[in-house]
Amino acid sequence: MDGRTGLPLVGMVGGGQLARMTHQAAISLGQSLRVLSVSADDSAALVAADVRIGSHTDLTALREFAGGCDAVTFDHEHVPGDHIRALEKDGIKVYPSADALIFAQDKGRMRERLSELGAPVPRWRRVRELADITGFGLPAVAKATTGGYDGRGVWMLQDEAQAQELIATGTSLIVEERVPLRRELAALVARSPFGQVAAYPIVETVQQDGICVEVIAPAPGLPEQRALEAQQLAIDLATALGVVGLLAVELFETDDDLMVNELAMRPHNSGHWTIEGARTSQFEQHLRAVLDYPMGATTLTAPVVVMANVLGGPPGGISIDERVHHLFAEDPGARVHLYGKQVRPGRKIGHVTVLGDDLAEVRARAARAAKRLQEGI
Ligand code: ADP
Repeated sequence: MDGRTGLPLVGMVGGGQLARMTHQAAISLGQSLRVLSVSADDSAALVAADVRIGSHTDLTALREFAGGCDAVTFDHEHVPGDHIRALEKDGIKVYPSADALIFAQDKGRMRERLSELGAPVPRWRRVRELADITGFGLPAVAKATTGGYDGRGVWMLQDEAQAQELIATGTSLIVEERVPLRRELAALVARSPFGQVAAYPIVETVQQDGICVEVIAPAPGLPEQRALEAQQLAIDLATALGVVGLLAVELFETDDDLMVNELAMRPHNSGHWTIEGARTSQFEQHLRAVLDYPMGATTLTAPVVVMANVLGGPPGGISIDERVHHLFAEDPGARVHLYGKQVRPGRKIGHVTVLGDDLAEVRARAARAAKRLQEGI
């Protein structure tokens, strides 16, 4: 507890934009997030008052950081399970627990557990040697079991030579069928230690080159029955895996089915729209969940909400400050979130959210706003 305010102290490991936006939500609850950041220039380190500089792989740094926190949580999944267990043994409440987080850290363990639970997943297999891939059948999708993000660590394998080359790198892999997906969806739920769950409306996520560029809430044209099914699936998984905090379930929609692609146990890019687009933002919901507060309402605040990611554009052009100026002049309704990150081509540096009634118009405005910030034109 923060002795100055009588309100809880939550520590978040990792100083990225997710911690930055969680800090923003913490402020409304009278709190101030403690952040463990590798650099003083990280997004959240630039804004939080209580920043500890240190590595998430250094147990001593983690222990010093966690001391005095009412709950410790994460902005990424890279903290080793043994370190989390050590904190748990110290009596720190760590959410999600090491036993739950493993299923978001390791794609092999995740696929195994989902298969055991009877959740719909693409046909898959662990890879130890070339025969595991050729025997599985090509073309296929190979994935690094750990460390991948934004499409890094995912390979669309066409032939044996590519498979051979990948195996030679020594990367720990799974292989799975290339799903004939119609589109990608995401189900976001939160669960508290008490066991209360809250589910957000199902969204459509649009990917380009493995990176999410746009999120549409609610997912256009999704039959109510399928939306309910997806929400129930996410709730069942959160409960079965013992998740505390947010669980994002990335889904593939095929012509007649839903399949689970990925799990994340933290605020997720597919939920940034909730800051303005839902009664309770995912960031506040995550804090409520890890503090065992009752969950907040997840209903939409407008018929259509679209979030577009802002990626670093090509170098040169007008400054980011001028771009914001032009955007505000053009569209006073566009909501801008910049993460205070150095611009590098392709890097997520912010997002914009637009609310409205007409899907085509709201999508066009969000895309236009993101392009303005990204390219300056
Ligand atoms: P990351 O962990 O990098 O986000 P994902 O497993 O989510 O990796 O894969 C990135 C993207 O690659 C997905 O959003 C999807 O577009 C595509 N993809 C992944 N697996 C498959 C698959 N089995 N079939 C078809 N497309 C896939």
